[in-house]
Amino acid sequence: TTTLSPSRPCPGAVHGPLLPVVGAGTRVPLAHGGEIPYANLDNAASAPALTAVADRVAQVLPHYASVHRGAGYLSRVSTALFEQARAQVGAFLGAGPDDVVVFTRSTTDALDLLSRAVPTGARVLVADVEHHANLLPWQRSARTTVVRGGADAGETADLLEAELATGRYALLAVAGASNVTGEVLPLRRLARAAHAAGARIAVDGAQLLPHRRVDLGRDGIDWIALSGHKLYAPFGAGALVGRRDWLDAAEPYLAGGGATLDVGHDAVRWASGPDRHEAGSPNVVGAVALAEACATLAALPAGALEAHEAALRERLVTGLGALDGVHVVRPHPEDAVGVVTFTVPGHPASAVAAYLSAEHGVGVRDGRFCAHRFADALGLAEGGLRASTGVGTGSDEVDRLLAAVAQFVTTGP
Ligand code: PLP
Repeated sequence: TTTLSPSRPCPGAVHGPLLPVVGAGTRVPLAHGGEIPYANLDNAASAPALTAVADRVAQVLPHYASVHRGAGYLSRVSTALFEQARAQVGAFLGAGPDDVVVFTRSTTDALDLLSRAVPTGARVLVADVEHHANLLPWQRSARTTVVRGGADAGETADLLEAELATGRYALLAVAGASNVTGEVLPLRRLARAAHAAGARIAVDGAQLLPHRRVDLGRDGIDWIALSGHKLYAPFGAGALVGRRDWLDAAEPYLAGGGATLDVGHDAVRWASGPDRHEAGSPNVVGAVALAEACATLAALPAGALEAHEAALRERLVTGLGALDGVHVVRPHPEDAVGVVTFTVPGHPASAVAAYLSAEHGVGVRDGRFCAHRFADALGLAEGGLRASTGVGTGSDEVDRLLAAVAQFVTTGP
């Protein structure tokens, strides 16, 4: 049997978090008494907010008021903050003059919005490796084709390209990075293939953007969807960013105040641009928080995010792979973010996850990760364990997970 402990660290330089996050070092109770600092290896589900984001929220919280409606000073300040946030999110993603930033609640919300804006009769292409947020909205339509994913992200891209080449599609919808394996799709290649076949490309950026920079113009992406709570900002704010034509031609996502130019007895004139799909009082503080997270990530030196991520992923994969009795799912993809799924054959994932939490204060996710079809194809019908890193993760947390799993496989629960 292999044992691994923090005194026998796995390869890779020891390093701390890339950026400070709130709640780091929070002490959590252990099953048999005592407390320990929480080791958060569940960033792919929701990542802790950056300290810079928390500071910004504290700064704006005393000053918010309803936007776009009031002439009062605070309303004007809030409107300016909200629109500045929109511009910051757009700049972070390289949005151009024909693009809009529509604030939504989340990636799920953003992709649902886009799915309702697809022109009548247009065909959509997706693969079955997607998170349900990027599968179910499309699957509602009989005009959607769902292809089986390949043995790796490259093969999935090949299959999508071959299908695109039939020229039948108006839209390809893909996740930039998988929430199950961390695999990164070759987006530029897919964007070129989609455009060459007369289609557009929408990217589910929920898992990619916390780890990689994307530029809509440079990468040839037509839309990207994102969630604040995965991007080091709190819950409740996300965005759909991209081309405005389909969105302007679509039915408003929500019917209500703010989305209209004029409401008459018989007819309603709807607004265009983001207003069209943002009826109701918006989440100004959430938008400001999301924008601050974008600005903080954008200010990192080039390559820093990727280097941090790659080092932690390598440490995780090498450490888990060295343990007898642990199976790592697709351990060495061509390109991947810090999301690693593994199993301990013979032990239910839920039991292992509960052990890691109760005995070691280590948080991971277990289950089928809202990607049931992909999980089943990967042999995870009974569920797997997912460890995921973020900018707030240090190598000590990875080592704690490795030591805890090592103890589980050597001494049992
Ligand atoms: N897409 C991917 C790849 C995800 O991992 C998730 C969340 O886990 C989502 C979409 C949905 O994000 P949200 O729950 O913030 O809408």
